[in-house]
Amino acid sequence: MKFHDISPTLSERIGVFPGDVPFSRAVSHSIDEGDHLDLSCVTTTLHVGAHADAPSHYVGGGEDIGERSLEPYYGPCQVMEVAVAPGARILPSDLQAEVEAPRVLLKTGSFPDPENWNGDFASCSPDLIDFFHDSGVVLVGIDTPSVDPEQDKELLSHAAVARHNLSLLEGLVLGDVAAEIYHLVAFPLKIKGADASPVRAVLIEE
Ligand SMILES: [Zn+2]
Repeated sequence: MKFHDISPTLSERIGVFPGDVPFSRAVSHSIDEGDHLDLSCVTTTLHVGAHADAPSHYVGGGEDIGERSLEPYYGPCQVMEVAVAPGARILPSDLQAEVEAPRVLLKTGSFPDPENWNGDFASCSPDLIDFFHDSGVVLVGIDTPSVDPEQDKELLSHAAVARHNLSLLEGLVLGDVAAEIYHLVAFPLKIKGADASPVRAVLIEE
């Protein structure tokens, strides 16, 4: 069994959406400073690094992340490689393979360094989300910060995700994984009322 960690490291260096709350960690006790233990806390947007969006992020009255079913975040998962122009929305016709698993992660390579934010990352077309739903997919993931373009305010792909009650992972790091089928583990934290949660996303190769 081989584990592929597809989560970026969380630190002060990681990029967040322009205007969102950056990740920071404050140390209140330190063994190095003579305390009997290390103790720290973090302040961050919940949309940091590899994370799961909840419906309440994009639909009024939608489920929060703590209420979501866990099933979509665990199980057979296909990495699909797509080549699209900077800033483009991925269309069903851009897919280079058939959908063969109920979870699909899109490897676009368009957001190569989570510590150096670039706003022209690829995103999804609503048609692609519809197509995945029609193909039996329950979870969509992407190696960019969002399934809609950075400056988009309509969030049509998020709306399509909501329409089909799909689960969504964003901010994945897929540079080192091949376009194959794995077993995904990426559970969100049970945070009451929250619009998202960081996840430790892992692809297991059996
Ligand atoms: Zn998000």
